[in-house]
Amino acid sequence: MQNAKAIVPKPVNEPILSYAPGSPEKIALKKRIQELKLQEIEVPLIIGGQEIKTGNMGKMVMPHNHKHILGHYHKAGEKEVKMAIEASMDTWSFWSKTPWEMRAAIFKKMASILQRHEEQTLNAATMLGQSKNVYQAEIDSACEFIDFLNFNCWYAQELYEQQPTYSPDGMWNRLEHRSLEGFIFAVSPFNFTSIAGNLPMSPALMGNVVLWKPASSAVYSAHFIMQLFKEAGLPDGVINFIPGAGSTVGPIVMKNENLAGVHFTGSTKVFQGMWSHIGENIQTYKTYPRIVGETGGKDFCIAHESADIDALVSAMIRGAFEYQGQKCSAMSRAYIPTNVWKDIKDKYIAEVGTIKMGDPKDFSNFMNAVIDQTAFDSITEFIDFAEEADDAEIITGGQYNDEKGFFIEPTTILTDNPKFRTMCEEIFGPVLTIYLYEPMDWEKTLDLVDKTSPYALTGCVFGQDRKAVEDASKRLTHAAGNFYINDKPTGAVVGQQPFGGSRASGTNDKAGSMFNLIRWISMRTIKETFDPPKNYRYPFMDEE
Ligand code: NAD
Repeated sequence: MQNAKAIVPKPVNEPILSYAPGSPEKIALKKRIQELKLQEIEVPLIIGGQEIKTGNMGKMVMPHNHKHILGHYHKAGEKEVKMAIEASMDTWSFWSKTPWEMRAAIFKKMASILQRHEEQTLNAATMLGQSKNVYQAEIDSACEFIDFLNFNCWYAQELYEQQPTYSPDGMWNRLEHRSLEGFIFAVSPFNFTSIAGNLPMSPALMGNVVLWKPASSAVYSAHFIMQLFKEAGLPDGVINFIPGAGSTVGPIVMKNENLAGVHFTGSTKVFQGMWSHIGENIQTYKTYPRIVGETGGKDFCIAHESADIDALVSAMIRGAFEYQGQKCSAMSRAYIPTNVWKDIKDKYIAEVGTIKMGDPKDFSNFMNAVIDQTAFDSITEFIDFAEEADDAEIITGGQYNDEKGFFIEPTTILTDNPKFRTMCEEIFGPVLTIYLYEPMDWEKTLDLVDKTSPYALTGCVFGQDRKAVEDASKRLTHAAGNFYINDKPTGAVVGQQPFGGSRASGTNDKAGSMFNLIRWISMRTIKETFDPPKNYRYPFMDEE
């Protein structure tokens, strides 16, 4: 039985440190980056607290200098996946009965370790292994991760406080917030260290045991997250770390009768494949697995002719190109009225022209490299397609080079075809496509925004005219799970803008909220009667 007492203080969002010249955080971070660069680490699997080495190795490199090896990691095969399932199930009976305050204390301690910013290991690892600049690393692997840890403990408490509203005299009605019966498969993407940590952590907080498969291109930072879980006191076997190929690990996990849930963030295609697998195996499971997935996006910006031009230009640049456009929420299609475009075109092109790109260790770089060769090839194929198309023109960037690192210039495509391929498909790179519309077609354009892509993750409207903002907000009700008014569509903050999308963008269970945590419990209703009837007959049955 879980007891709910007001013991977790209400958290506030972690402040973003400035990393100004001479600041202690900047000195510590630079030192840690240098230390990590000089080492080649070996990353084992962690199963039931034991380090496992399979000898089947993957390489960890820096995307901005891909000949520089950060280390190697061991990949899980069938044997290790089965061991991990066994270890998690052995831990389940103890962990699912551990009082929730004890579980929360571990994750709050982890937040506190990260808050001290002493070592800067996770920020440094994210910068080196995922090629993020210092600001992008700080808002991810420090602030958002700390917020996930602290806010989830608060939301768990709120959830555990939910009880039936009424118990008549002589009776007590209660809800017991049980963990799920089985293990959770947490599968994380490469692009956010905080998401990687949150996917295994949130089910574990709710008393579940977890198999965590990180993305192959982000095993480096994931390894340091595992070290933090241990340092914070997480018992062995609660989160089992099994890097490896998704196509090897996934099918073995999803065939297992004890699968109780999937906590996924990544592409729509992979998620749909996993869901199909679960469907095929539905008769195998002891319980219906909870399927939670946050997936792809084709995030929009619609500008009204009343838009503030400077704000729009800045939102386009930050929204489309920060972290090289590798955010599920990145702006990737913009609809701009012709009369506004006249005024912003030169300014936009000039501003994009000032963007510096390179190694994250040079803090003046706004952009760095895309994650790996596969991403580089896929993104540049879209650029080549636009280059050759008759109905599109590249107005910024368009150049790329993978000799040293996977660098792609911030690229803007202008098209007169609202269904041009790069207006519809997720690219997941620094490419923004702009379609110009006539101001009198405002309403028609809203319908276009709604119907152009299967996704519905994020989107924004820019305009000073309140009626226009309201039109967009209503017409686009189902086009985005996170909708922004006069702001870029990226940068959701835990506790402020719970994150997730619908349609092909996911199950919209809102990471970093009570609504996500509710998926990791299964409630038992308990009715206790203090004075039960001792005779089956009702009064109406009495003869007159
Ligand atoms: P991805 O789908 O390629 O990989 C995600 C994870 O799935 C990785 O760990 C990968 O190894 C694993 N995987 C691949 N095949 C699998 C299989 N058959 N079984 C089990 N696991 C398998 O995604 P990515 O390239 O790491 O991340 C980019 C994608 O993630 C984009 O589409 C982006 O929009 C999406 N994303 C969405 C959100 C969101 O909140 N909606 C957040 C971040 C990223």
